[in-house]
Amino acid sequence: MKELNKNLFNHIYIEKSVKKEAEKIISKIKNAYIIEIDNYLEIFGRKKQNFNLQKGRQSLILAKKHTKFLYPNPPYCQNFGFERSFYSSLILNCIFDCKYCFLQGMFSSAHIVFFLNIKDFFSELLKEAENGEFLLFLSYDTDLLAFENITDFIKDCCDFFASHKNIKVEIRTKSANFQAIANLTPINNITLAWSILPEKIIKKFENKTPSLKQRITAIQNAIEKGWNVRLIFDPIIITKDYEIEEYISFIKEISSKIDKNAITDIGIGNFRMNPSYLKKIIINNPELNTIKQDKDNYEKILNYIKLTFSTKNVYSII
Ligand code: SF4
Repeated sequence: MKELNKNLFNHIYIEKSVKKEAEKIISKIKNAYIIEIDNYLEIFGRKKQNFNLQKGRQSLILAKKHTKFLYPNPPYCQNFGFERSFYSSLILNCIFDCKYCFLQGMFSSAHIVFFLNIKDFFSELLKEAENGEFLLFLSYDTDLLAFENITDFIKDCCDFFASHKNIKVEIRTKSANFQAIANLTPINNITLAWSILPEKIIKKFENKTPSLKQRITAIQNAIEKGWNVRLIFDPIIITKDYEIEEYISFIKEISSKIDKNAITDIGIGNFRMNPSYLKKIIINNPELNTIKQDKDNYEKILNYIKLTFSTKNVYSII
């Protein structure tokens, strides 16, 4: 597992316009070279970058977002029953390294960008909220909880969303870093959503992520503290050497370790991706070819989840 540590970044690039906002973050990171820049795209947007090489040694870029923060939820993502749903990009890229991660197809750089003008993000949210209730995927192009020790973004967002209840928020994560938000008061319009897979699949496809056991502990802690918790079985990954019976055992294990009545709801989805991203990332991740696109097996798993968590809403997307 690679959770955030103080020596993670060798280089930190800082836009001159956010030098003041960057001070708190820099003070938490040791032994990094600091380089001032005018615009994050000088580094992030360079041509001929190698995402996979950079993934081995990511730099941090602290910047101001000049374009919008909110984007309509793409059709291949769930909306959990909401008519209007959006995702946001406070951070670009991730410290985890899932082989199926769409970010490899979307960005040419693996460096991590924090946008520090969070007040502009809140202003944009307020404007959108004038049009009525909506669902926001706050942790979309990243895993926000994994970075919380140095960003405090979740803390700042909780302060904001506590008084803006018509914005319903999902924070999706694979992180076991619940400790970073353990002192926060749960907000009833925020749901923490843990993405879980069988341990064998985690080892094969989700490099540098916490184990299933660590994620279950984080889920148990969040439930105990009173947070809304969503279980995410998405993507369902069935490979040639990992058959459906083992998936059923995994669901049994989850239901025996997590209080079924205490979770809010469940999301499930099959493996799917924008075809142009898939074409790009499969070159470096040939294991993706072993994933079975098997509708029958997906239906069996979906039905078993519905049966196991019969009192909860189960949202499925294929
Ligand atoms: S945790 Fe999510 S964002 Fe991070 S590498 Fe894995 S799939 Fe990508």
